[in-house]
Amino acid sequence: MVTINSVTSLGNMDGVAVIAIDSPPVNALSALVRDGIFSAMQQALSDPLVKAVVLRCEGRTFFAGADITEFGKPPAGASLAEVQKILEESPKPVIAAIHGTALGGGLEVALVCHYRIAVPTARLGLPEVNIGLLPGAGGTQRLPRLVGVEVALEMMTAGTHIQARHALQLGLLDQLAPEDDLNAAAIAFARKVLDESLPLRKVRDMGEKLETARAQPDIFSHFRQANARKFRGFQAPEKIIQCVEDAVNLPFEEGLQRERQRFSELLQGEQSQAQRYYFFAARQISQIPGLDKNAAVLPVNSVGVIGAGTMGTGIAMNFLNAGIPVHLVETGQEALDRGLRTIRSNYESTAKKGRLTLEAIEQRMALLTSSLDLADLSEVDLVIEAVFENMEVKKELFSRLDRICKAAAILASNTSALDLNEIASATTRPESVIGLHFFSPANVMKLLEVVRGSKTSDSVIATSMNLAKKIGKVAVLVGVCPGFVGNRILGQRQREANALLMEGAMPWAIDRVLYDFGFPMGPFAMSDLAGLDLGWSKEKSSSSTLREVLCEMGRRGQKTGAGFYDYDDKRTAIPSSLVEGIIQDFARKQGKQVREVSDEECLERCIYPMINEGAKILDEGMAIRPSDIDVVWVNGYGWPVYRGGPMFYGDQIGLPRVLAKMQEFESRYGPQFKPARLLEELVASGRKFSDLSPAH
Ligand code: NAD
Repeated sequence: MVTINSVTSLGNMDGVAVIAIDSPPVNALSALVRDGIFSAMQQALSDPLVKAVVLRCEGRTFFAGADITEFGKPPAGASLAEVQKILEESPKPVIAAIHGTALGGGLEVALVCHYRIAVPTARLGLPEVNIGLLPGAGGTQRLPRLVGVEVALEMMTAGTHIQARHALQLGLLDQLAPEDDLNAAAIAFARKVLDESLPLRKVRDMGEKLETARAQPDIFSHFRQANARKFRGFQAPEKIIQCVEDAVNLPFEEGLQRERQRFSELLQGEQSQAQRYYFFAARQISQIPGLDKNAAVLPVNSVGVIGAGTMGTGIAMNFLNAGIPVHLVETGQEALDRGLRTIRSNYESTAKKGRLTLEAIEQRMALLTSSLDLADLSEVDLVIEAVFENMEVKKELFSRLDRICKAAAILASNTSALDLNEIASATTRPESVIGLHFFSPANVMKLLEVVRGSKTSDSVIATSMNLAKKIGKVAVLVGVCPGFVGNRILGQRQREANALLMEGAMPWAIDRVLYDFGFPMGPFAMSDLAGLDLGWSKEKSSSSTLREVLCEMGRRGQKTGAGFYDYDDKRTAIPSSLVEGIIQDFARKQGKQVREVSDEECLERCIYPMINEGAKILDEGMAIRPSDIDVVWVNGYGWPVYRGGPMFYGDQIGLPRVLAKMQEFESRYGPQFKPARLLEELVASGRKFSDLSPAH
């Protein structure tokens, strides 16, 4: 073995040189790594004893991608293009030997090698789209040549990783290697190439699959149409499609040049900035400053769920899916049976879509037991309460749990708005009480607000955060305040959306503005979907709110064919002139002056108070850092990830502008717009949310 530099070694085995890169933790393609490959290749090419080259990595993975900390910095070392050129144009065959992951730039390096071999556990992909980019090192030009246009479009716009076996079927790999013998298998493969005088296969010269695509001129329009909803608002997927169109229609070099051009447009654009920010934000949520590093993570091998309603059933499914037994408790047999049926039928509908086998359903259902007796929860490691949202009911329940559950058990509440500290005070062990605020549908929604009470122990927090990961949730630690982080901010938007109605903006106008901003739907379409009669009762209804009036008229949302909107039989929302009249009537009765409200005002009135509320939440220490609030809003409320989150957006448009608008609205509409102290302070000191250090 010859050491070329600190990261690269070159060994020569019977005419086959092995370039092995070792740059922990993930062999990212940093300047040092690029230089290492380049000089090792120069050496291999000038050594007459070397007839073929194997390129592989030490450690846990093949090149895991570009070193994204280098983005935006001046270029250093050999460029990736130079590295790719020396590999691709090598007159001696180069074989990429892949283990771990070959992602992004990592796969683009493998694509310039003449052959690719990988172990079965390896995964490959071009996930740049997830950070608002496209594969900018030839990936959009080479991948369609190797695997065909349709597969390449799918892989690059979804950004998914594929397994080695699948990659072999697609032609992305030439051979699988034994799991623990990649090096020897790659050398043997290189020898075979030499012995059988196999050609130097350059992906850039392959034309057959492009020919196939040329014979299907509708391929791109079909793809755009089929994914229109998924791609709405995002720039990167469209640019990827354009690059693949170029791969089909232009000479290779020209396609490559256009790819580079589009890559740098995206790199400098606001969307990719936001998505790269979000990428790091999502990784920070588990960093909890001040939490005792040695706090014990308790074993959670069994869970009790109380209440088999909307939330309890969904919550139970999370644990069943992760192989953790659940005991479900209800007050009445009928409600319990209904809950059990809901769980089974949810699984069955997943199975119908081909995403679950019948065997897996039975395995999961076998982990579920149930009863009407709270005493059955005496031995579980964790209890999650999901009963009616009523303080007295919850306190009574927690004091019973305190007597029933074992000393080490964690006692959690799924309350959305009640004071967790008061619930905890009903027990003799408030340190064991925590909020686990799931979102509906709880088996689908990724977000989990982990609510830390004033006495919750570090061990209970650490265990909850750890468990959340196990069940596939994105867990954000928040403090006790009305609505916690997500709903508290939502309340601001909702209040303004309702106020705007009384000033002359129609529900469909407000919804359109928020939809165009990037939310999946606006607040009124959302209310119609959830049902306007949530929490409404006919007996108590007194026509005092717009919602009550609509419910009294039988307009209770999509399920009744009418709500704020009318609905046709395909559930298409149609603006309703009847509702328009009712709103105007209501506004008149309240003595409101109806006026023309601009789209700009709708947006600013809905969004800026959210940013302002976020500032209050940070000031009170209810969220650890601004980016945690953004993670809550992207995962739980459909904030478009290409706008980072409300706090990132505030920084991006400029806090002075947000403050000025809040002041203007305060003087015009009232104290609900009073600027947060922290917002004023940041503006006065010329700082941004991103300049804040995390709260303890
Ligand atoms: P739900 O009415 O659908 O279900 C509550 C269930 O609890 C009912 O089946 C009821 O029979 C049962 N129950 C009541 N008292 C009980 C007791 N003492 N022991 C056992 N079972 C009992 O309500 P939900 O929508 O599932 O809400 C439950 C909790 O979750 C509430 O605290 C709510 O605020 C919170 N939450 C709801 C949502 C949502 O979107 N629905 C979202 C997040 C949090």
